[in-house]
Amino acid sequence: MLCRSRWRRLALPPAPSPGPRRAGSGAAPAAGYEVVVIGGGHAGTEAAAAAARGGARTLLLTHKIGTIGQLSCNPSFGGIGKGHLVREVDALDGLCGRVCDLAGVHYKVLNRCKGPAVWGLRAQVDRGLYRDNMRKEILNTPLLTVHEASVEDLLLTEPEPDHPGKCRVRGVVLGDGSTVHAGSVILTTGTFLRGMIHVGLEKHPAGRLGDQPSIGLAQTLERLGFAVGRLKTGTPPRLAKDTIDFSGLEERTADNPPVPFSFLSKAVWIKPEDQLSCYLTYTNPKAQQIVQDNLHLNNHVRETTKGPRYCPSLEAKVLRFPNREHQVWLEPEGLESNVIYPQGLSMTLPPELQEQVIKSIRGLEKAKMLQPGYGVQYDYLDPRQLTASLESRLVQRLFFAGQINGTTGYEEAAAQGVIAGINACLRVRGKPPFIVSRTEGYIGVLIDDLTTLGTNEPYRMFTSRVEFRMSLRPDNADARLTHRGSFLGWLLQSAALPGFRPLSHVPPASAGFEEAGCVSQQRYEQAVEMKAALEDGIAALKSLQLSVSKWSQLIPEVHLSSNRRSPMSAFDVLQYPEANMEILARAIPEPLRKFAQWRELSERLKIEAAYEWCVVNQQQEIEEVRRDEALQLPEDLDYFAIDASLSTEVREKLSSNRPQTIGAVSRIPGITPAAIVNLLRFVKNKQQKAEKLKAFPQTDKYLPGKTYSEKAASQTQISAELSEEELESTFVKTPV
Ligand code: FAD
Repeated sequence: MLCRSRWRRLALPPAPSPGPRRAGSGAAPAAGYEVVVIGGGHAGTEAAAAAARGGARTLLLTHKIGTIGQLSCNPSFGGIGKGHLVREVDALDGLCGRVCDLAGVHYKVLNRCKGPAVWGLRAQVDRGLYRDNMRKEILNTPLLTVHEASVEDLLLTEPEPDHPGKCRVRGVVLGDGSTVHAGSVILTTGTFLRGMIHVGLEKHPAGRLGDQPSIGLAQTLERLGFAVGRLKTGTPPRLAKDTIDFSGLEERTADNPPVPFSFLSKAVWIKPEDQLSCYLTYTNPKAQQIVQDNLHLNNHVRETTKGPRYCPSLEAKVLRFPNREHQVWLEPEGLESNVIYPQGLSMTLPPELQEQVIKSIRGLEKAKMLQPGYGVQYDYLDPRQLTASLESRLVQRLFFAGQINGTTGYEEAAAQGVIAGINACLRVRGKPPFIVSRTEGYIGVLIDDLTTLGTNEPYRMFTSRVEFRMSLRPDNADARLTHRGSFLGWLLQSAALPGFRPLSHVPPASAGFEEAGCVSQQRYEQAVEMKAALEDGIAALKSLQLSVSKWSQLIPEVHLSSNRRSPMSAFDVLQYPEANMEILARAIPEPLRKFAQWRELSERLKIEAAYEWCVVNQQQEIEEVRRDEALQLPEDLDYFAIDASLSTEVREKLSSNRPQTIGAVSRIPGITPAAIVNLLRFVKNKQQKAEKLKAFPQTDKYLPGKTYSEKAASQTQISAELSEEELESTFVKTPV
């Protein structure tokens, strides 16, 4: 039965004290705040904390303070693409990464077989610890007041003349009829707008199990003219751990050592050997039969509303991929918890049929279902009605973040929350918005995709959505974003706090450090120190130039290419798989020892070296596409027949959209950057051949552009490899 060694009880860290509550459900909040945030979910908490860190007097209004930090579904964070978001949120001093490092019970870097650029940091967290630590962070954030209330309506007034929008928000109306005035309002109501829960043929209004939906706000948004759509999601049943037979199931142990999410964490709270394991089992034909025989009892599945493509329900998988076994990961909900989350088993069949499905699965024959799975359908806002700062175009100073914008996942919500919080605060101050571009971060890609392309299915982040993924890596999120997060707003507020210490290094205002005002002094100093050390390290490595034979004498364990005649720098050598800073420093202690002694720095130098050529290549590709944006595509192109490295999905999209230029291709949702480059090269190659044939019509001895096509073929292959969807990974985080 149970693998006792893995599930043994551990001493939990002392429960964090909730700290002072600023305003409870009873006390009415003060009449005016600079920023008011509606919703205490992942987007709302990050938004409120970011606005307060930026120096704004902030009020967080939410149905229940008790649900702050609540993970509505799988208690896990990160994954492929999502781990990047957590790192970027952390680089802007957001909360979720730090809190994960105080709550993780199983840390695993996904995609390890590929390069560090697409590694997916992931952790299964203890649900209770995550909630308690997040609540503590929020309730102890200076300038942030939390109040338990339902927001029913928005207070509106005349628009500001110098901004687009038909009116301006100036506050909110609470359920008891009282009002709160605000400079900016952020709406993060998740799945609560006209939320409807489905199990079997039954349905009832609710935002999440046990929570009331938001009807008043949904009506207000509709009245204001916002375009809304309908999406759905779901969650699996929960199982009692002590009724599962884990023997014979495939065990997935955690990483040792675990990789922390936060740049501030030197280590995670749990000892590597105390982490819990996850187990893998599979569905089978019997489970499939139960699902197929009972589709008529399953409203959620029959409805045409779109659900998450990359984490479908069991019913959707059975319908789409019949006669296949589907993975079910059994994941612990916490150290002390007897609850197992069966990832991959999201379903909305009537509860008695869910039990039958469960019992048909290996290892779960005697499993007790603690709570049935269910589905939720809800309104979401068309995010194209927002600017890149997440402010609405219709109503000035009204910001939207999180699942209400059509995304799915805690990380996507948290990322938007940080950006909305920063911008709501800047807007009140009359400062320019803080925009992360597609070239700077996954957050930029997420928000750009949403606000320019919109979405008609729950949007999930993937590395393949990102053009610059060789340079937007999880390891360097601090170098990319922390300096933009600034500290000046924080300085203003913290000067009044006990223990305030002025900064030793104040960057010049011209460096753009005043932008966001949401990053703490400690984080800022740490990021500056790391960035400087990286620059020094790279410069030192590049300046050490020796011949290949000399390097081979010094470090015989690294097998260098003997063809090279010109001298090689230590940075070039570091690109070889067997090379690392320790080996180099042993060979040339001065000046390398000091860099090798700093473990994190030496790991980052190795990654920088490994990616240097990729980053240069990628910049050239981007430039290539940019230069040729206006290139006309032949009208008669048969996208299904052309000899270019394009997936069937991309061919289908090109064929149905029939874009006229390369620029137009890049605006079709779901066309990967690699596909654009491959198509561009194919078309240019074809044109070149045609031109050359025209120039030499009389001879057929000419072999057009052989070198170019060889090069194109090899580059096509590289791009195609990079564009492969990471879905093949067996352990993709799947927020149902
Ligand atoms: P939520 O986390 O939903 O928070 C909304 C908040 O707004 C709540 O605190 C609510 O009380 C408050 N609120 C709403 N209306 C009002 C009002 N009028 N007044 C005051 N307060 C209000 N993601 C994953 O990453 N992994 C998963 O496994 C996963 N499974 C999911 C399963 C289900 C059933 C659901 C519903 C979602 C799931 N998701 C999962 C998605 C994930 O939960 C959301 O994407 C994420 O929580 C969205 O965060 P949010 O802050 O936008 O909204």
